[in-house]
Amino acid sequence: MGSSAGFPISGFACSGYLARIAGQRLLLDCGPGIAGALIGADATAGVDGVIISHLHPDHVLDLIPLGYALMTEWLTEGRTQPVPVYLPPGGLEFLQKLSDLFGHRNWRFEENGGNAGYKALGAALARGEDWLLTVFDAREYEPGDDIVLDGTTVATFPVDHRIPTAAMRIRFEGADLVYSADTRFLPALGDFAAGTDLFLVDAHFSGPKAPGGLHMTPADAGHLATIANAKRLVLCHLGAPEDCASAQQAAAAHFSGAIHTAFDTREYSL
Ligand SMILES: [Zn+2]
Repeated sequence: MGSSAGFPISGFACSGYLARIAGQRLLLDCGPGIAGALIGADATAGVDGVIISHLHPDHVLDLIPLGYALMTEWLTEGRTQPVPVYLPPGGLEFLQKLSDLFGHRNWRFEENGGNAGYKALGAALARGEDWLLTVFDAREYEPGDDIVLDGTTVATFPVDHRIPTAAMRIRFEGADLVYSADTRFLPALGDFAAGTDLFLVDAHFSGPKAPGGLHMTPADAGHLATIANAKRLVLCHLGAPEDCASAQQAAAAHFSGAIHTAFDTREYSL
């Protein structure tokens, strides 16, 4: 849904990847621009679960508009089923603080008005709870944990991005994808991704070397895909998405498999 780096630009939202698995829709990260790409014309959120890799704004900020879309579903359609949102360590406090900045706990709905969703939100607010944390079932995970959502297991792996950050691997009926999240080059991530069909890899920095130790270059991504023996590599989190051709060329010097450059709405079947 989005693969831009620190900020969205026209045609490139920030990080967000929707995995459709046997009718289940799992969203990996929810950066700026993702809610708009995800929410259908009928204003439904269109997602069954969300996993956030780390708490940087380009991966998490659109949880707020996604929550507003869900709240609207509760109020107008009587939805009462929260969407599970898995957050890395510190995520519950982070989301509560963010929500409190908008005063969500001070909202009021009549407890007796409207449908079941309206009543449920009204009752939660009357108890002093937050509507955002009512429409979301927010939980924390530890990078390295397995997350099980409706029978789909998402393995996570701690990567190195200075704050707790998790790569993710989803296997389903012989199909397999790995998302690196944001990280410096980490050979062990190649082992975590061993044999994957589709490897979505942070390739933020163009040039021969990634400064700062927070991200990778397309060349690093190619190197990592070779360690993993991945079938296909998708270069993501591009700091210069207009420069796709040279990014692919740099990755191809280190990886002989298929190389793609992510852009919004591109779909891959596994
Ligand atoms: Zn990022």
